Amino acid sequence: MPEPLTNVVPFETAVPSPAAFSPIGARGLSAPPSRVFIIDDDEAIVALVGSIAERVGCAPVPVTSLARLNEVMDDIDPADVVVLDLNLGAFDGVSVLRRFQQHSCKSPILVVSGCEQRVRASAVQFGRQLGLDMLSPIAKPFDPAAMADTFRRHASARAAITVADVEHAIENDELTVHMQPIVDIKTRRASGAEALVRWQHPVRGMIYPDKFIPLVERHPLMLPLTLTVAHQAFATAAGLPDSISVAINVPPICLGDAEFPDLLMSIATKHRISSARITVEITETAAMADPTFTAVQVTRLRIKGFEVSLDDFGTGYASLTELHRMPVSVIKVDRSFVSRLLRDEEAKAIARMTVHLGRSLGLKVVAEGVEDRETLELLGSWGCDEAQGYHIARPMPAEALAGWIAAWKENQPAHTFG
Ligand code: C2E
Ligand code: CA
Ligand code: CA
Repeated sequence: MPEPLTNVVPFETAVPSPAAFSPIGARGLSAPPSRVFIIDDDEAIVALVGSIAERVGCAPVPVTSLARLNEVMDDIDPADVVVLDLNLGAFDGVSVLRRFQQHSCKSPILVVSGCEQRVRASAVQFGRQLGLDMLSPIAKPFDPAAMADTFRRHASARAAITVADVEHAIENDELTVHMQPIVDIKTRRASGAEALVRWQHPVRGMIYPDKFIPLVERHPLMLPLTLTVAHQAFATAAGLPDSISVAINVPPICLGDAEFPDLLMSIATKHRISSARITVEITETAAMADPTFTAVQVTRLRIKGFEVSLDDFGTGYASLTELHRMPVSVIKVDRSFVSRLLRDEEAKAIARMTVHLGRSLGLKVVAEGVEDRETLELLGSWGCDEAQGYHIARPMPAEALAGWIAAWKENQPAHTFG
């Protein structure tokens, strides 16, 4: 693994202590821990994965034989995570995937394997075709921090989250914002940060957005949620130099609200920051669901001086004509292409074409999911403007951003690509 560009502690790599998952809240809602089923015939791997699971508050369940798998199969539930080795000696991972389908397994499945990348990818693809919830696979030997992160994200407390829970969270100020820095690739200076919502649940610990945003994405609650994030993000920006911008994620239900641009403007005014320092991110998929309507809403935001970015670009099939008509100022190359581009020629071709496309339309191009130095340099050589990703910094509590930017400035010699 290449050296990270900074020695600043990446906050979200820190594995929370199991205490963070203990029932401490007044609501008394004590959810039993999620389990991690480890299907692997290698005892050493089972022990290692088990210790990582325990560190994030999950209960490991070793499954080292077919007989054991048969015993536990019907006990696995959607709150658990399954770790699956592909090469299991007596039987193979693909046949296990078939069994999971037969047993209607709803749990997220993480393939961890020493097989070559194409074999792993093809097994995952097969699992998806069977309707299984396949996570991005991990190669052996693996990075324990990455695995811990996957467990934290996917092991959900047993009691399902409801819309009423999210409403309660907004009312009780349980939503906080983490900021992930974005840097200018040419000058290596920090240029901005994206606000990413986190739910600091009094009982369940930190809950990531993919656990609750999809639940409320089309619900009217999305408006107060987005405005809460905007408040926190703009307050953070107010304490930073004018050269630092902030991005917030805005789903269609907000974009479609006639009042939204004015509401956003009033929050910016309250925190005395210029709309030029604010980027509204809308996903390409959302934008393309109704391009004509989106173009109008984007225009209204641009008139007020906001920057607008097409997020997750490459996943939503925007046609060139639609892209040309959409008055966005930024495109963000989706992390599924960026994080794989050194290993996957197709991902690399898509990322490179997206950078060129954005540049030739006069848009700023931001790559997200930059996980190593080589990727950063390659993107720079293609003319990509900005980068965001674990290689630069993980998302961090908003109050840590100013310190991060100061430390980053000191450590970064200006660098240009030839
Ligand atoms: P997104 O907008 O694509 O946000 C970037 C996600 O990529 C973040 O996940 C971030 O932690 C993760 N990420 C950043 N760098 C890397 C990297 O180098 N490698 C990898 N593998 N991942 C990286 P997070 O915070 O879990 O957010 C997930 C998604 O939830 C976001 O994807 C966004 O769609 C949504 N989301 C987050 N906050 C909000 C919000 O306030 N409102 C709305 N509507 N959606 C939000
Ligand atoms: Ca985003
Ligand atoms: Ca994105």
